[in-house]
Amino acid sequence: DDPGNVKVVVRCRAFVRREREKGTQCLIRMDPATNRTILLAPNDGDLDSNARKAYEDKEFLFDKSFWSHDEADPHYAHQEDVYRSFGEEFLDHNFNGYHTCIFAYGQTGSGKSYTMMGTPDNPGLIPRTCEELFDRIREEPTPNTSYHVQVSYFEVYNEHVRDLLVVRTNPPMYLKIRESPKDGVYVQGLTEVEVKSYKDVERLMKLGDMSRTTAATKMNDTSSRSHAVFTIRLKQITHSLLSDETIERTARMRLVDLAGSERAKSTEATGQRLKEGGQINKSLTTLGRVIAALADPRRHNPKGRRPREVVPYRDSVLTWLLRDSLGGNSKTAMVACIAPCDYDETLSTLRYADQAKRIRTRASVNQDCMS
Ligand code: ADP
Ligand code: MG
Repeated sequence: DDPGNVKVVVRCRAFVRREREKGTQCLIRMDPATNRTILLAPNDGDLDSNARKAYEDKEFLFDKSFWSHDEADPHYAHQEDVYRSFGEEFLDHNFNGYHTCIFAYGQTGSGKSYTMMGTPDNPGLIPRTCEELFDRIREEPTPNTSYHVQVSYFEVYNEHVRDLLVVRTNPPMYLKIRESPKDGVYVQGLTEVEVKSYKDVERLMKLGDMSRTTAATKMNDTSSRSHAVFTIRLKQITHSLLSDETIERTARMRLVDLAGSERAKSTEATGQRLKEGGQINKSLTTLGRVIAALADPRRHNPKGRRPREVVPYRDSVLTWLLRDSLGGNSKTAMVACIAPCDYDETLSTLRYADQAKRIRTRASVNQDCMS
């Protein structure tokens, strides 16, 4: 086993046009040398007087603080920099046979999809990881090894799982979650496409994102309400001529674009929206409870006392599916995405991320000897 803490990084995006036009104050400072992120109390002018007292400067320390606010700044973090700083390392882990998971957390509009998927001109972690995966297979293959890569893409919406790689049906087709001793928790009947090149993956990413966006225009902003899970499975089969053994390594990498964290609040929404909101809350609020339980220092009591609380993975679809990625056999990272201007939402995201730092997972190499 290889125990380690969840890696937590934070990324602050630029102002969008609307914010720039309003002359919005930037509430974030980052010190690239120490990886400190500071959230500043907004100017008095921006607040009503009762709120004023509650605001103060807050400082946080993460594994990395990415400053993507001001492109003119010498410390500006491009998509490439984000990938180089830990995406690349996570791909190394996959080739070594470890499962990995990277998830993006933050309010709607904070840059989660930009960080994970990016744009055609500025691809994010998912396309960069896939492209480099095939570069490595082509350019530095291990001798006597064959490689098999599969991709799947689904979303969790309203506590339902929907395959993003099949044509949408009306009514939508939802998939069931199953558990088996061999495969752990899995989505039954999920499309897994064998891919031979980055071009194949690119096509599937587009297909899946289109399926997500179609829904967004029809159902009013689905992408902020759904969790998108992109999974790559890398199987390496090596035959040793010396020992005549065949060794199979299977690693899974999960790349998760979570629903907007403002959805975790119970105050908004009425009627149908309450129902939707309530159910979406369920996966996000459960994720919060799972993280809190996993981060509880009593879990790692050196005297080996039993953890006080059972981790409530099974209380929501998302946490059940991500159980291994969150607290089990996986190397895991969280990207906390923040907007430069929303004190309350940003503080809540930074606190969430701060808690995630304390989670430890135990990754082990997933290898079978087939001789
Ligand atoms: P989310 O997925 O969290 O709702 P998006 O990724 O869609 O947020 O980002 C909101 C907007 O901000 C988009 O227009 C996106 O292109 C832009 N954006 C986000 N992060 C960055 C960044 N680091 N650099 C440039 N533009 C960004
Ligand atoms: Mg998004």
